[in-house]
Amino acid sequence: MRLANVAGRAALVVDDGIVDVAVASRGALPSDLQLLYERWDEVRALAERVTKAAAPLDVGVLQAPVPSPRQVFAIGMNYAAHAAEAGLENPTFPPTFTKFPTCLTGPDATVELPSEFVDWEVELVVVIGQLAYDVAIGDGWRHVAGFTVGQDLSERIVQTRPPAPQFSLGKSFPGFGPIGPWVVTPDELADPDDLALGCTVNGEEVQKSRTSDLIFGVDALVHHLSSIAPLLPGDLIFTGTPSGVGATRTPPRFLAPGDELVSTIDGVGTIHTRLVERSASHGR
Ligand code: ZN
Repeated sequence: MRLANVAGRAALVVDDGIVDVAVASRGALPSDLQLLYERWDEVRALAERVTKAAAPLDVGVLQAPVPSPRQVFAIGMNYAAHAAEAGLENPTFPPTFTKFPTCLTGPDATVELPSEFVDWEVELVVVIGQLAYDVAIGDGWRHVAGFTVGQDLSERIVQTRPPAPQFSLGKSFPGFGPIGPWVVTPDELADPDDLALGCTVNGEEVQKSRTSDLIFGVDALVHHLSSIAPLLPGDLIFTGTPSGVGATRTPPRFLAPGDELVSTIDGVGTIHTRLVERSASHGR
């Protein structure tokens, strides 16, 4: 099943078309996506019954498929090659920060660059379905609604500013969390623990890996995070980025106005992010 946010309303993606969830359920289910993660079994049941598209899919109007999660967890150094390029040892517990939810945006977004030090990080993003608290290893998948593609855009100066790094702030400027194009359930994928992911900048491949290289896979992340905080329906986990970011290159490379970032996970989808100069006035 694929669930999209079509101009603010939840829709199932069926073949190349869409079915509005509230209409197809005759009002039994709401159009607010965030509420649907609380009622995932009912959404799944509706998807079983709906097989024909009611309208064509217009990808231009898709918005973030998880628009307002209560919690957004993000994991650092979760691919061995990325930890190595940062000069760090593999962690024994997932290094965790948050992306504040105001940074989320959709799958076809224009994002202002707050500085000359903004970097790309393609990531598999997990969407929580059933409440997860103190979940044992091996039970993590039962709490996952699905996946989406994400970019953990990162301003490296703020992120690493002394005396203590500010990961959460450096990764939470407006637009720094593009996600989409929809949420895909794990049963759509031959092996949800082994997905190819990557991104390009202006067509040049800069990251390419597989989620089978995650140090902490989805099951382990749900286990570790839920040993501390309850994971709520509709929460997100940015699972970490593979090697190939700009900051650790020689010389370092960052995103510039006019750049286009394309991020893909095979079997899940592709998102497009255009970077532009920061506009002069932000006194809103
Ligand atoms: Zn990241």
